[in-house]
Formats: sequence, structure tokens, C-alpha cells
Amino acid sequence: MKTGTGTPPVVSDIPTKEKIVFVTFDDGAEKDPKFVTMMGELKIPFTMFLTDVSIRSDYDYFKPLQELGNPIMNHTLTHPNLRTESESAQRHEICTQQTKLKAEYGTTPRLFRPPYGNLNEATKTAAKSCGLQALILWRESMQIKGMQYQRADKKLHPGDIILAHFRGPSELKGTSMTEMTANLLREISHQGFTVARLEDYV
Ligand SMILES: [Zn+2]
Repeated sequence: MKTGTGTPPVVSDIPTKEKIVFVTFDDGAEKDPKFVTMMGELKIPFTMFLTDVSIRSDYDYFKPLQELGNPIMNHTLTHPNLRTESESAQRHEICTQQTKLKAEYGTTPRLFRPPYGNLNEATKTAAKSCGLQALILWRESMQIKGMQYQRADKKLHPGDIILAHFRGPSELKGTSMTEMTANLLREISHQGFTVARLEDYV
């Protein structure tokens, strides 16, 4: 990706004609061992955007997922609505999480996802000053059984980025994270798409 003197791009989909989509999991609250087993067997690539308050009870949970080749990226320290924060507060949220993730997982994140998808110009400036190369949003978000679409045609499009979360039965009305993920992958393949690795494209 080209990096110039401007602020990092905001990316919700990747320009491509291939029938590929990208899967991302956010926050990190749910730590279901069965999800690790499942993703180890399926070998579907995904990107994790992790928030310190959600993962600090068990940083180690995410290490086997990372060892499968799935990168860990930045989703702030405490998950605030950045639009209501000053630039220096935003920088603290983003840069401190960069340092923590590097210390815990050994690699410095390149990509940033603002909580709730909320951002302003200060977010881009802050993210850049923390060394981040792109702000990643999404086109679809995975709910318990089906996807929520931003476009009126309610279909996946080539290059779409899909948002999902580390959520468990208490937040999914009894559905487990592995069931939700199975529903997600079934819907992707039902629409004729395969899952590609986001970091190969951005
Ligand atoms: Zn989040």
C-alpha cells in the first residue's frame, strides 16, 4: 500500500473482482477454547482487532489464534467513542494499545479499527502518529444468525470486510461463538465467496 504524507486511508472494502471477502473479529471479551480448535481445523484466515479492557483477563487466549497466522491489530485501550475525545486522548488510546499489543504478542499492529466505527480527522492524525497505516471499517456485520448489510441489495460484494465479535452465549442469546462463526462461514460460501487474508490486500 502506498503511504504518503497524508493521513491513513479509511477502508471498508478492497477493490477487487474476485469473489473474496475478509473476516474480522473485534474486542476479545469471549474466550471460547472451542473457537481456537475450530479455527485451527478450518484454517480460515481472519484478523483480530483487540481492546485491552476486553483481553487483559487472559492475553494468552489469543496466542494460539495468532500462531495460526491470524494477525492481532489495534482496537484501542478502553473502547471509547473516539469522536468525543480530544486528539491527545485519542493518541493515548491508540498508541498505548500499540505498545501493549507489541509487548504481549511480539508484533506491532499496522491496522486500526475505531470502536463503533466512529472517527474524525483527529483519529486519523492520532493513528498515523502511532504508526498505523490504515483505518479498517466494514460493509457487513455478523449478528447471531444472519448478516446486517450496509447496502440495500443485502448481498456480499467482492472485497467486502465483515465485522464479527468475540462474543459468547450471554451476548448471543444462548448461541456460542463457534455456532455464530459457522453461520457466518456458511452464509459466505452460500453466496459463492471465499475468505481471503486482509493483510495481503491492505
Ligand atoms: Zn469494538
